[in-house]
Amino acid sequence: IVSTGHLPPNPRVDELVEEAWQRYRGVGDGTVADYIPALAKASADWFGICIAGVDGVVHAIGDAERAFSIQSISKPFVFALVCQALGGGRARQSIGVNATGLPFNSVMAIELNADRTMNPMVNAGAIATTSLAPGANAEERWRFIRDGLSHFAGRELTMDQEVYESEAATNQRNQGIARLLLAYDRMYSDPEEATDIYTRQCALNVTARDLAVMGATLADGGVNPVTKERVVDEDRCRRVLAVMATAGLYEQSGDWLYEVGLPGKSGVAGGLVTTAPGKGGLGVFSPPLDAAGNSVRGQLVTRFLSERLGLNLFASQ
Ligand code: GLN
Repeated sequence: IVSTGHLPPNPRVDELVEEAWQRYRGVGDGTVADYIPALAKASADWFGICIAGVDGVVHAIGDAERAFSIQSISKPFVFALVCQALGGGRARQSIGVNATGLPFNSVMAIELNADRTMNPMVNAGAIATTSLAPGANAEERWRFIRDGLSHFAGRELTMDQEVYESEAATNQRNQGIARLLLAYDRMYSDPEEATDIYTRQCALNVTARDLAVMGATLADGGVNPVTKERVVDEDRCRRVLAVMATAGLYEQSGDWLYEVGLPGKSGVAGGLVTTAPGKGGLGVFSPPLDAAGNSVRGQLVTRFLSERLGLNLFASQ
């Protein structure tokens, strides 16, 4: 068998995307997040799927163009940008790359780790990552992140003001995490400022289509396959995919890798991005979450498509 390194032929991908959507649209499990009050307004019925190949071909169905806040899915892309700016070695030293095995907002994860580093896919590591964004002041650092994420998506992303304000008013826990990191010399700019920029990056609006293109950019070694623009270098992408595989679905990351065999990242607004290196990206949007904060339908769709499209990284053929 000769592997082309690409997805199956386009009509086959369309067919499977449609099959996945039909198969899981009726699933009623999970709960829409409400710890950020503005997120509770989402409909449990919204459901979109999109695949973008490294050839730039996009396959979408359902609510693939509906906007929602990116939330934690910003983490791998901000980490990519910070790795690009600092180099993968320094990013690892400053932030950490090991699994935490704990929920996304865990404080224990910091306490349990002897050198107090974290994984950039959980809140502590992500706020530390944001604190490393280059720029002379908060405005420049925010622009670095917003523009960088926009290049990954191939269009200008804008912030959902209501989601931002709603989270900023209720994120005392993240503020606490940033201060704790400061006490351990693991916060690299003002903790309040870093938490605020982190909250902004989480409130950027994306669609399932954007997520697919962003995931495909990581699959394509840092080149956005739609705009053809290089966003980060190839070796940065490898680092990002490694931390996604390690902690992209928090304490469920082992189960995820066991079943899907691909690096993925979830967000509490119901988004889920997955990257098949060298092949493409998958974005799913469905707000109801499981207990770990991962989209229920997102996980079902991704498992199904990984299997049917033959994407599992651990498969020998
Ligand atoms: N902004 C959210 C938070 O920090 C992101 C969490 C998530 O998507 N899992 O709580």
